[in-house]
This record gives sequence, C-alpha cells and structure tokens, in this order.
Amino acid sequence: MTQAVRHDSMRARNLGLVLGEVRRSGPVTRAALAEITGLTKTTVSKMVGDLLDAGMVTETGTLRDGERGRPGTAVSLSGGRVAALGLEINVDYLSACVVDLALTVRLRYTQAVDNRAASPVETLARLQKLIHRAVDEARAAGLVIAGSTLAVPGPVNGGLLHSAPNLGWHDVRVGDLLETGGEPPGVEVENEANLAALGELWFGTGHGDFLHVSGEIGIGAGLVVGGALFRGARGLAGELGHVVVSPDGPACRCGGRGCLEQYAGQEALLRAAGLPAPAPRTAPEATSPDDAVATSGTPAAPGGVAELVGRLRDGDGPALEACARAGRALGIALTSATHLLDPGTIVLGGVFAPLFPWISGPVRDTMTGRLTAMRHAVPEIAVSRLGADAATLGAAGQVIHRVIADPGLHLAAARAVPAPR
Ligand SMILES: [Zn+2]
Repeated sequence: MTQAVRHDSMRARNLGLVLGEVRRSGPVTRAALAEITGLTKTTVSKMVGDLLDAGMVTETGTLRDGERGRPGTAVSLSGGRVAALGLEINVDYLSACVVDLALTVRLRYTQAVDNRAASPVETLARLQKLIHRAVDEARAAGLVIAGSTLAVPGPVNGGLLHSAPNLGWHDVRVGDLLETGGEPPGVEVENEANLAALGELWFGTGHGDFLHVSGEIGIGAGLVVGGALFRGARGLAGELGHVVVSPDGPACRCGGRGCLEQYAGQEALLRAAGLPAPAPRTAPEATSPDDAVATSGTPAAPGGVAELVGRLRDGDGPALEACARAGRALGIALTSATHLLDPGTIVLGGVFAPLFPWISGPVRDTMTGRLTAMRHAVPEIAVSRLGADAATLGAAGQVIHRVIADPGLHLAAARAVPAPR
C-alpha cells in the first residue's frame, strides 16, 4: 500500500468515525468528538470542516464540555443536502420515497398498477419515470441523491432476482434493466421483506431481535438480530409465505403444497371473504408518473383490502371467518418460526397492518396454545405503523446508513449541489 492510499483510507475511516458519532451523540462539540473518537482535535476540526462544506452536518449553538470545560460550538447531523431514494416494485403498485441524512422522509409517491400484466422491461420503464420525478423534485429542494435501493418481491442474491412467482419473473438482473443516466448513481436491488424489516428498525416499531412479517400478494419476513438483517447463506432467508402449514394443502406457485401464502396471502384472504381480487388501474393515463399519488402518511390499504376492512367493520360473517382462518394459519407458521428463531417481537406489516384488529387475536391464540407448555412467554405481536411504506423506507434508510459509514465517497457530489430554487 502506498503512503497516499494509506492516507486516503485513513481519512475515509476518520470521516465515517466522526459522522457516525455526530449521528449518535449530536449535538456535540469538536472537543467532545475528539475525546469520544480518540482522534486529535486538529483532525476532528478538519473532518468537521469537510462535513460542514458538504452540508452533512450543521452548527447548532454552543455547548459546554463537562462542568469545567470551555463552551464550544456544537454540531448536529443535517438533513439539508444529502438524501437517498428508496424504491419498490410490488405486484400491484410501484412506490418511491426520498429520505434525507437525518432520516426525515421528504417525498413519497405510490402508483397503483398491475405489474403482473407487464414484462420486467415495461415495469422498469414505468419505475424509471417515477425515479426521474423523484430526482427532479429532490433537486428542486436542494437535495442530492447519494444512492438508491430497489425493493422487489422475491429472493435476491448478488443483484439477481431469482424468482418473483407472483410477478411471473425469473432470474432477472433488475438493476441492469434500469437506465437512470447516473441519477441516482447506481441502484442496488434487495428483497422487499428484508428491507421492510430494516424500515421497521429505523422508522417504525422494531427493536431488539424481531421478526417483521410483510403481508402483500405474497408473504415475506425479515429477521433482525443485533441491529442487523439476517440474510441466510444465499440471501434467501425469510420466505415465510412458503413455510408449510398443511402438507396436503392446495398447490402453491413455488411448486410446493399447503404453503402459508395459500391461506393468508392477500388473494387467498379476499377469495375466502367472497371478495374479488383488486383490479389495479392499467389505463394508459394511470401509468404516467403524474398519476403517482404523493402521500404524507401510511397510505390506505390498497383496493380489495380496503373493501375487506370495510366489511370487517360491519361485522360481515365471511370476512371475519376469512381473517380468523388466515390468522390461525399465520399463527401456525409463526409458532414454527418462534421455535426456530426465538424473536422477542413479531411485527405484522403490509396488509396485515390494516387487518391487525381482526387477525392478531387468532394469531396470538394459536401461538399461545402451542408455545406456552415450553415457554414462559410468547413473542409480543405488534402492528407495523409503516404498513405498505416499510420496504421503501428501509430501502432509503439502507443508503443513508452506508453514507454515514463512509461519507468520504459522497463529499464531492454534496459540495457541488446548487442552492435550492
Ligand atoms: Zn409456496
């Protein structure tokens, strides 16, 4: 290693150390940063100067260091310039969100569209329009997009989406089909359920070691252990929807039989309640990014699930029985998951969030009946506050956490941002 390379890698490491500490302890003075990180005051001042120039930190008044310490100017993380783009392709919608360095959600879009009727190329062309809109609006707000992660409804390893049975996609290099023209610089592809679990950790109710269950057309799960995602040997962990709850049950798209998805997936639920599957808008005007709905909170449950919730509120018998049956099946799958993984909390997200008042009881009863002989307590069953937004938030959050770990890679781009219009 040459001296120059050594110096560069040392500087990158120190920048990450300082910014990480500002995130954890801010507002914090340069003197306190030097004490915590073990770096010299001169080095800390240089690093803070570079981070101030890049708009990643901001000065926020004075603080005294300890009882006898001299007052110094405190610095905090700034969300004013650097941001990340979170994206999601799911079976019946596309969504995007922009999250800044302080993990504040700045923009959010959802577009209802039936991606089952489209090829990967068509779907990615639609997504591209959404990306352009998000990047343009972020730029108008004075933000630079440091990177992007795309959530997809199937197992991913090394950028390859192995299969998304509910979309009919197999072995698709999704990132290669996106032509973003360098904005954002590179799009990483990751499983939707994994990102939803991270979204829950950073923006929602997830804490400690927990399992997040994503109920969509398919059912996925993400396990967070010690603040990090457990991905499995090949990145394929968490396929809860294909855990068998009845060995002789109905055939599943995965090639197996009696999978959880056949009892508690969105289509199975609606069918059991006597409701048609939702028909997402596919008219040409609906595919324009201008029709994407900018949302400011958790969106209403999509199509058929909203109708199901209405019937549940009215005490409709078939709807209540469909939820009870789905809840029992989910409880059986989660009993197995608990024996295997011992999570502290299980967070029910996606469509299970709006259905929580009706589905959580049967889940809890099933688990309690099967687990209490061996355990003092069953895992807490909690509702996701993020619902369908969890995956896009996790996708953006993942980029932000990487920027904070290695801000040096993004200093030049952040410094070059023009003032907001
Ligand atoms: Zn299956």
